[in-house]
Amino acid sequence: MERTWDLSFLYKSFDDPAFLQDLKALPEDVRRLSSATEGEGSDVEKLETMVSISEDITRRMEHLGGFCYFTLSVDAENAQAMRYLNQIQVLGNDVSLAMSEVQRFVQKIGNLEECIAASPLLASCGFALREMKEQACHLMDPAIEKWMLKMQLSGGQSFSRLRDQLDATHLVEYRGEKLPLSAVRGKAYDADAGVRRDAYEAELASYKAIELPMSYCLNSIKMEARTLAEARGYSSVLDMTLSQSRMDRECLDAMWSAIEESLPAFRRYLRKKGELLGHSNGLPFYDLFAPVGNGSLHFTLEEAHQKLLEEMGKFTPDMAAFMDHAFLNRWIDVDPRPGKSGGAFCAGIHDMDRSLILTNFQGSFSDVSTLAHELGHAWHNRCMAGLPALMTQTPMPLAETASIFNETVLSHQVLSSCPESLELNLLESGLMECTQTVVDIYSRFLFEREVVDTRADHAMSVDELKDCMIRAQKQTYGNGLDPDFMHPYMWACKSHYYSSDLNFYNFPYAFGLLFGKGVFARYLAEGAGFVPVYCQLLRSCGSDTITNVAASVGIDVRSRDFWRSSLRVIEKDIDRFCDLASAR
Ligand SMILES: [Zn+2]
Repeated sequence: MERTWDLSFLYKSFDDPAFLQDLKALPEDVRRLSSATEGEGSDVEKLETMVSISEDITRRMEHLGGFCYFTLSVDAENAQAMRYLNQIQVLGNDVSLAMSEVQRFVQKIGNLEECIAASPLLASCGFALREMKEQACHLMDPAIEKWMLKMQLSGGQSFSRLRDQLDATHLVEYRGEKLPLSAVRGKAYDADAGVRRDAYEAELASYKAIELPMSYCLNSIKMEARTLAEARGYSSVLDMTLSQSRMDRECLDAMWSAIEESLPAFRRYLRKKGELLGHSNGLPFYDLFAPVGNGSLHFTLEEAHQKLLEEMGKFTPDMAAFMDHAFLNRWIDVDPRPGKSGGAFCAGIHDMDRSLILTNFQGSFSDVSTLAHELGHAWHNRCMAGLPALMTQTPMPLAETASIFNETVLSHQVLSSCPESLELNLLESGLMECTQTVVDIYSRFLFEREVVDTRADHAMSVDELKDCMIRAQKQTYGNGLDPDFMHPYMWACKSHYYSSDLNFYNFPYAFGLLFGKGVFARYLAEGAGFVPVYCQLLRSCGSDTITNVAASVGIDVRSRDFWRSSLRVIEKDIDRFCDLASAR
């Protein structure tokens, strides 16, 4: 089996005439889009023209941007890819401006519903058109929008890049050696307790060198967010984020209050893990990711491939066939190598009904689970095949549904048949991740909310930021963490606070995990009959508000009970983990 992906279905190279032709056509498309509202013709005709041009633009942006991005992600130094990607990002600004013009046009159409009803093309993207009209009140004055976008290049976006530079070049003095921050943080997973503790202490001590510029980045990005929210007529940064996520406050509040109720269970898990590692006052931060239990599974790529087909095929044979196709047709770039980015992702090329997956497979069960996760995203893309591109914009909170669902199916199958000697280890590694996605994410939300609110009054000093972070950790981890070993600099190490156009880039993770688990609970209750319902749910993720998409499968995301039922899936694992740990 080939272990690198094949990008030639997009372009043969950067010199491919098709690549250059698309690159030339893109600005022309943008000009056509900007002028589509002018001249003769009915509103229906103009709307139809705009929809089809915007489809062209999306397709070209995906092909061109994708080819550059995929190339760079396995060859970080590729100068051609970098240059073209910059060019395409600048064009992206022009696309945004042209789309704003389209939106202003849609806003002014009094009989939009009649237009939608009069045209099959418009009817196929009715939700997107209605949303444009509804959200048009948040457009900026066209006279200032262009300048705001430009100022962001030297404002928030610049601070965001500075943050990445500080992070990437920061060296930590660890046991007499200077190591990159990511390498030192990676030692949190080491089997040696001394390594974990030394790495934590070295990491914390090292932040002194970058804390001031980091605090400026954070304060500036959050100030810009406040300014943008105000300029766009939102009552707060959180409201702007929720609106972009097609989510409402009621849903967010229901989720957080169910999470608050479940915190004691997570703390029980953390304290039990602490006991296993010899701590009596809760788990020190440096042992959050420590491995426990003995024995772990190991897979070759071929074994991982077969395992996924076997286990996911129990959900539906279609999923197994789809995964097999992805493995055999070079959709996946498997192995780590120099110049290739870390982590994993999946990105789809919508009009070609094809996805690309990057992983850094080394054979652990968690690597197999990552493959299941990314192939879940690919399956989601498959479920959306054929829809107008305007209807495929899945909001962040729903974007992890299919991936978490796959992970949950896999671990459920594997846990139900594994020997007890492996169970503790597998359960714990799942719980470790859930704790991050629920408890830590909640602490990040509380922290960010305070920073955004305080910014109305003043920029927070480094000491204030550290104090705020510790309070957020105490409020969420509670006695699960040893109060003498917390992490006052989590704001300096997580990139999510520094995205200039996404604020509160935290709650979508908790939503995604719990929604995916909630959907899985439905599958457990309903069995095979749920498969087509599930696929339809995925297909509709970009076609309505989150509340309505969930309601289409009978889930009420505004009800605390739904979130409780998802959390119960995790709490059951916590109970089992505590039983196994106590029996040792
Ligand atoms: Zn994902």
